Amino acid sequence: MSGARPPTGARVFCVANQKGGVGKTTTTVNLAAGLAKVGQRVLMIDLDPQGNATMGSGIDKRKLELTVYDVLLESASIAEAKVRSEKCGYDVLGANRELAGAEVELVDVDRRDQRLKQAVVAAAPGYDFILIDCPPSLSMLTLNGLCSAHGVIVPMQCEYFALEGLTDLVNTIKQVHANMNKDLQIIGLLRVMFDPRITLQQQVSDQLKSHFGDKVFNTVIPRNVRLAEAPSYGLPGVVFDPAARGSIAYVDFAQEMVERIRKM
Ligand code: ATP
Ligand code: MG
Repeated sequence: MSGARPPTGARVFCVANQKGGVGKTTTTVNLAAGLAKVGQRVLMIDLDPQGNATMGSGIDKRKLELTVYDVLLESASIAEAKVRSEKCGYDVLGANRELAGAEVELVDVDRRDQRLKQAVVAAAPGYDFILIDCPPSLSMLTLNGLCSAHGVIVPMQCEYFALEGLTDLVNTIKQVHANMNKDLQIIGLLRVMFDPRITLQQQVSDQLKSHFGDKVFNTVIPRNVRLAEAPSYGLPGVVFDPAARGSIAYVDFAQEMVERIRKM
């Protein structure tokens, strides 16, 4: 583990996997809601132009005056651009399609991969956790996320190609760790959309554990339709239907995260 850290200020985590549709956004908003539920002060940063984490937190991305785009271009601070999701109990730095242009606009700027980090450092004293929902790519946006974070949470489905897909992500994280952000580590792999009745999923899950050991979170998120329905109500499952199996699992995961950072 690298460097002493100040006793106050948020722990910052990216939820990343360059593969699309693996449950990054579902994990980000439900972990945010779960952490809020157990009394943590949370900021959720949407770093995906799709804006799904914004909408899924009950914030209309089309109506936002300031977003993470303005923060990346240094025309606003996080304190200015964040909005409160009262229903969800956490703050949101939202995103919308405008963010897709940031990649190009940042091309000629100095330290373009550090733009988010500067803003996050300034906002950190106000929170216990800052969670960043990354887009399904290893782009400049994801790089900004990785440069800002203490750790990466990798949601993954226990499918045949799951391990193979991890190689690129693990290599990118190693490079960022070596060259740009000494703090960065993989906090853990989170098994999501899990169906224990499927033998293959059980096998891949066992493989993951033997490969990555305690980097695999104890909590397993089941496949649960309530988690998939919740975004259409603009809510994380944890808020939409707290009694659903998937929601209970995400609150368990929030508690596991609180435990993990105590040991970090
Ligand atoms: P993208 O790469 O496009 O950003 P993502 O990795 O953020 O996607 P999500 O949007 O979270 O993935 O999830 C993909 C789909 O799977 C969504 O329709 C979501 O509602 C559904 N889903 C996610 N987790 C679960 C789960 N545990 N049970 C059932 N459905 C789920
Ligand atoms: Mg997403």
